[in-house]
This record gives sequence, structure tokens and C-alpha cells, in this order.
Amino acid sequence: MTKRTEWAATEIEQLKSEGRYIPIRTIESAQGAHVTIEGKSMLNLCSNNYLGLANHPEVVKAALRAIEEFGVGAGAVRSIAGTNTLHMKVEKKLAEFKNMDSSIVFQGGLLANSGTIPVMVGKEDIVFSEELNHASIIDGVRLSSAKRSMYRHLDMEDLESKLKENRKEGKKAMIISDGVFSMDGDIAPLDRITELGEKYDAMIYVDDAHGEGVLGSHGRGIVDHFHLHDRVDLEMGTFSKALGTMGGFSAGSKSLIDLLHQRARPFLFSSALNPGDTAAVLKSLEILERDDSLVKKLWKNSTSLKKGLEDAGFNTGSSKTPITPVMVGDEKKTLELSSTLYKEGVFASPIVFPTVAKGSARIRLMPSAVHSSEDISTAIEKFTSIGKKIGVI
Ligand SMILES: *Cc1c(COP(=O)(O)O)cnc(C)c1O
Repeated sequence: MTKRTEWAATEIEQLKSEGRYIPIRTIESAQGAHVTIEGKSMLNLCSNNYLGLANHPEVVKAALRAIEEFGVGAGAVRSIAGTNTLHMKVEKKLAEFKNMDSSIVFQGGLLANSGTIPVMVGKEDIVFSEELNHASIIDGVRLSSAKRSMYRHLDMEDLESKLKENRKEGKKAMIISDGVFSMDGDIAPLDRITELGEKYDAMIYVDDAHGEGVLGSHGRGIVDHFHLHDRVDLEMGTFSKALGTMGGFSAGSKSLIDLLHQRARPFLFSSALNPGDTAAVLKSLEILERDDSLVKKLWKNSTSLKKGLEDAGFNTGSSKTPITPVMVGDEKKTLELSSTLYKEGVFASPIVFPTVAKGSARIRLMPSAVHSSEDISTAIEKFTSIGKKIGVI
């Protein structure tokens, strides 16, 4: 250990004293409604495995088969020797699933955003960015060097006034928004955003990370939910949430996606998605296409979870999707609620600043299609008894 990194210890102490130091738990089993942590079975209420596809037998089998055929690694970046037939199949299947002309696969959603945005806009252009956009959008916009104009959360009047005021500062313009906001579960008014984009000649870019597998027919996502096919320029998404695996994508017009295949830096400079993951995505998409029962079950579970918590007196914010924030506010109280739940067999991680604004700390619950109705009742009972005991409700 060198002395030159002692500043890190000081920062850690600071985090602990502010109640912002998050214990990182280690999962000792597969993902699912229940996971093993420290040798104990816990009710899992905080992973993004919305549909249970992370450990779905057919998906696991598809990944194993692909590993046997293609090996564990893709071998190179996509543009040199890393593109295999699985990548081509997924890109085709995704475009069909999303009703877009074409798609490109990345190694993650974060990389999809940081790779795609700088190809679409540059320093002569302007981005209109919603204030609660995901960190990977913010990074992508920074990397692009485009001018930035931020508009207030879900506020279309504010977006229009920013467009009126600033549109002429950019040669090209683009409005970027999360589709479903990951910490609150509310939905961007993509229909209004699209109208404004059309009116002010701004491209429309939506991050559908939490809409895939959740919104629209068979979980086709936010563009399908609002019936905006052929009107949204770029739909970006991830495979790591409802699709249960790893990776990300961008979908749009044929020429735009062609250009991304030539220019996006994570495509050119980072090795391709592994065969096992790629085959798993393909299988997850097939399952969603043929059957929407998992999506229906997810919504059923999330409706009963929200209702139970609200009836008990919890504030679950303004969520319109399965994402269920239990708003506490105070950081230390949130950590106490989470650690007491943990002692009683409920795994529900706290979310504090800087992931959310100071004073809006919460526990974000993620019900899934693989929770049973008993799991949901247990969650409500435990939250209610512990919430009362520590004075949150
Ligand atoms: C999770 C998430 C990402 C990143 O996706 P990964 O595949 O996990 O890298 C991007 N955008 C939003 C809105 C997300 O919630």
C-alpha cells in the first residue's frame, strides 16, 4: 500500500458518516425470486430480472449450446474478427421485435449509449436532455461534445420553451430521454416528445432499458406502447434487465445503423459480446415473441405489491411501471430499513445520493414474473411490521 492513495480512506470515512456507504452483498446462487446470501435464503426484491429470464431453463440451455459450438469468447472486436452468425441473428431478430429497420448489438447498455450518442451528434449540434436521464446518457452526451440544454422531468412545456430558445444553436438537434425512469418508474411522454421533435426538427432518442419486456405488446417496449413506429429515430436498450443476460443495442434506420457499425467506438475498440450471452438474448426474444404470459405475471405481481404497500401507508411515488420505489427521504433511515429487512430475510437494497437526489433516499423494489403471490404477501408484511417498528410509517 502506498501513502499516495490515503485520500481514498478519507473519502470512505466521509461516505460512512453521511450514511451513504452501501454494503455490497454477494449472491451465492442463481438469480431468482429467492437468492442465497451469507448461506441464507433471502426473498430477492431488487434485481432487474423482471421476467426471470436470467435463469430460465431454455435460455440457459441455449447459452450452453452456443458455448459448445462457438466457445466462450468472441475473439476480437466486431469490426476485425469478432462478428459471428449469432450477432447477425440477434441484430436481425431485434429489428423485427422492435419494428425498426435495423439494429446494432453492443456489450452493454452503458456502451450502447456512450457509443451511439457521439455518432449522432457532435460539437456543432445540440442535445435536449431530460434532467433525470441515466448516467450512461449523460456520459454519452459529454463524449459527443454537443451543446446541452436540460429540461425538467416530464415537463413538456419546459422542453418546448428550451427548443424555442436554443434549437438554432445546433446544426442538428436531438431530444434524449429515458423511456421509463429507473429510480421512479414513471414514463416519459414519448408521444408529446415526438410531436415536439417533429415540430422543431430534432431527432428523437429513447433509452428503453426498463421498457423492454415490460411495456408494449409482448414487452416490445416504449415505442410500441405509444404506437410511434417510424417516428422515433433511435431506440436504445439493454439485454441486462428483462432479457436477463448482458449486452445492449441501438435500433433505427438502415443507414444510421450502418454508420454505427463503422463509427461507434465500443464496436470498434472493445471485444464483441460473448457467444453464450448472444445466444441467450436470441432465446429470450423468441420466448417473448411466442408468449406474453411472463409480462402479464410481472404486471399482476407489481400491482399487488404497490397496492399492499400503499394500503400500509408507504409512499410509492409516481411509478407507472413495475418499478416500486418505497420513498423514505432520510439516508440513514433508509439504510436502517434495508438492514433490518435484511436481518429478517428480505433483500432490498437502499438507493441514496448520488444515484438519487439528496433527501430522496428510497428502497427500490423490483417485483418479477417469478415471484409467487406468497412472496409478494411476505414482502408487504415484512415492510409493514419493520416500517412501523422503526417509524417509517
Ligand atoms: C441499466 C441501464 C442502462 C445500462 O445498461 P447495462 O446493460 O446494464 O449497461 C442504461 N440506461 C438505463 C436507463 C438503465 O437503466
